[in-house]
Amino acid sequence: MDTPALALGPLLHEGKAKRLYATADPQWCAVEFKDVATASNGRRQVRLPGKGRLNCQISARLFTLLEQAGLPTHFRELVGDGWMLVRPLRMIPLEVVLRNRAAGSLLRQLPIVTGQQLEPPLLDLYFKDDALGDPFLSEARLATLKILTPQARVQLETMARQANGALHQALAGLDLDLVDLKLEFGWDASGQLRLGDELSPDNCRLWDRRQSPHSPGRSLDKDRLRQGLGGLVAAYKEVNHRIQALGLQPRSHDPGEGL
Ligand code: UDP
Repeated sequence: MDTPALALGPLLHEGKAKRLYATADPQWCAVEFKDVATASNGRRQVRLPGKGRLNCQISARLFTLLEQAGLPTHFRELVGDGWMLVRPLRMIPLEVVLRNRAAGSLLRQLPIVTGQQLEPPLLDLYFKDDALGDPFLSEARLATLKILTPQARVQLETMARQANGALHQALAGLDLDLVDLKLEFGWDASGQLRLGDELSPDNCRLWDRRQSPHSPGRSLDKDRLRQGLGGLVAAYKEVNHRIQALGLQPRSHDPGEGL
């Protein structure tokens, strides 16, 4: 992956798909999207050249879409190939999963058929902890962990539902069915709740409405790796190509502006 056109500070955090670096300005961090895909909680790892750049482009456009819909996110601008500048957040250790249709873990836990519509969308909270396997949180477990005040919980769930609604609607216009997605939130320096992490086919299920429901080609997301279908980078390229039709112009870094 190319290095970004700005001076990087120390590596602050390395996750499965991204690295987070400090920059010369404490107000901003740089995120590098890695050319790696993982499944089974990181136990399976595959190198996929081109994937990082695609996830960065897709995320930048979808963050821009949500910002335009009035939802605060951590995204500032694209910088180089596969990099973006973001606002540092104090992350809330929750995986917020919105489900518009039944798929994935839900099928193993409830007597429900693949693709069954969930109206209103189901919102599930998981505790973000790889060592514990990201366990599902009941109301009582959430209260025990004291992760969120009741007011912050309402704010987070409202924002998560708004993000899901806006994305579901925009993607439907591109013949992409947003089946489910995982969101992560954090607090910025001024105490504002913002959407963080990424918005890419690594973190959501997208079914191609142009393919028959039983075709393996219908999954344009990380299920291609989970199910050993192959063609993950080609699928992400197709998603990026369709999203370009939304005409969103994510901000791009101007080296003259400093950092
Ligand atoms: N997901 C994710 N990270 C996780 C777990 C799930 O991004 O650690 C996403 C996943 O890609 C899907 C949605 O959250 O879009 C719901 O995932 P599910 O609970 O069905 O679990 P999975 O089948 O992915 O194990």
